[in-house]
Amino acid sequence: MCAIPENTESRTCGTCTLCCRLPDISYFDKSANAWCTHCIEGQGCSIYENRPALCRDFLCLWRTDDSLPAEWDPALSKMMIYQQGPQITVLADPDHPDLWRSEPYRSQLESWAAKAEPSGGYVIVFCGEEVYKI
Ligand code: SF4
Ligand code: SF4
Repeated sequence: MCAIPENTESRTCGTCTLCCRLPDISYFDKSANAWCTHCIEGQGCSIYENRPALCRDFLCLWRTDDSLPAEWDPALSKMMIYQQGPQITVLADPDHPDLWRSEPYRSQLESWAAKAEPSGGYVIVFCGEEVYKI
């Protein structure tokens, strides 16, 4: 929900607007995979200066974890990833339903799941109406 933000981290959102589309956002009564009505595709948030705190406060793992390899740029992976404790949630663009299963993504997701398992964690992938636990 950054949508072309200022460069506050070493990585930027660029033209990515996945988090204005893939998650459900009850604040806007927005269902998963529907565009936020404030988002201009490829340009960003039309209410950027006045966007709510939930949008201001969110950054995906790509933005916060510089160790993620270049292929995890959401513009390439078509996935929005975030971490809650030992759980990693992946929202995959349903327009690219097979990408998360392809390499190098599948192996990396399995590796993350294996590392999270001793702490009770896992990786969960949402893609359209489908949910997969790894
Ligand atoms: S998914 Fe990540 S890179 Fe894309 S707009 Fe959201 S925070 Fe920015
Ligand atoms: S208000 Fe702006 S930043 Fe928040 S989800 Fe909508 S378009 Fe994205």
